Amino acid sequence: MNKQARIFVAGHRGMVGSALVRRLAAEGYPNVVTRSRAELDLMDQAAVNRFFEAERIDVVLLAAARVGGILANASRPGEFIYENLVIETNVIHAAYRARVERLVFFGSSCIYPKQCPQPIREEYLLTSPLEPTNDAYAIAKIAGLKLCEAYNREYNTQYVALMPTNLYGPNDNYDLNSSHVLPALLRKAHEARLNGAASLTVWGSGTPRREFLHVDDLAAATLFVLEHNVTDGLFNVGVGEDLSIRELAEGICKVVGFEGELAFDASKPDGTPRKLLDVSRLAQMGWRARIGLAEGLASTYRQFVAAHAGSLPAALQA
Ligand code: GDP
Repeated sequence: MNKQARIFVAGHRGMVGSALVRRLAAEGYPNVVTRSRAELDLMDQAAVNRFFEAERIDVVLLAAARVGGILANASRPGEFIYENLVIETNVIHAAYRARVERLVFFGSSCIYPKQCPQPIREEYLLTSPLEPTNDAYAIAKIAGLKLCEAYNREYNTQYVALMPTNLYGPNDNYDLNSSHVLPALLRKAHEARLNGAASLTVWGSGTPRREFLHVDDLAAATLFVLEHNVTDGLFNVGVGEDLSIRELAEGICKVVGFEGELAFDASKPDGTPRKLLDVSRLAQMGWRARIGLAEGLASTYRQFVAAHAGSLPAALQA
């Protein structure tokens, strides 16, 4: 990819978008274009069209999305399907109209069927029903990757879809009602330690298995795909290993230094039993994740304390 390319990172304040901006800066791409939500509402098609007509963008990284953990997805499916469909169609169509040749669309491993053979290969898409706790979000993300495929076929664009596994890292959401499991447990363990609590509550049974990718590795994979001139297709991005939610909780307690018990809240959903990605498609091209979970958890906890601990109640501050 040309170092002078004008690269629009949609969603640059989110966890994925901000990681992309950091990586592009580190790799020496000076022409990164961003817009805050106040400057450009991606739900407003006319505004998105005007932006693309004016900005001469070469590459779009479409990381803007409505995202959330299992409870947010299960309780607000209308927002998740509507907002994601509108953002995707607005941005992808406006990019095509403005003759943007290259685009990377970010989805999620929840696009794959609930009862998928493991590890999950890209070709298992749409082979059986989805996990109901996040099927609205998954349908929107499937629509986005199908938009990319359809536009490539009809209009000769080069729009690629990356499907990361569960992500974590800087700028994650630590709100316990809408976050994913890893930031939720980091925060709960931190507060439990500071409170001297006897136990920490983990939702569900602790038996579901999940795979966790540091968002800086996703940003590295994105640059890899762009720099290797990948022009089409769907690519899983993961580490190739998973662990149970109980094991994750134990690992987090260790990093945080919380020595109490784990309590499991069976009233909360488990979600899909397992979603380990098969990452051989990118691996065969020469890319693999570099940040191990122990290292990633430690750096993420340090960032959490630096960014959030100051806003915790005084009694909770370390
Ligand atoms: P998912 O991967 O789409 O299911 O999303 P999550 O990251 O929200 O949840 C993953 C698993 O972790 C599910 O089985 C949750 O029930 C479980 N889990 C355990 N404790 C928590 C918690 O405090 N917050 C969240 N979001 N999930 C939790």
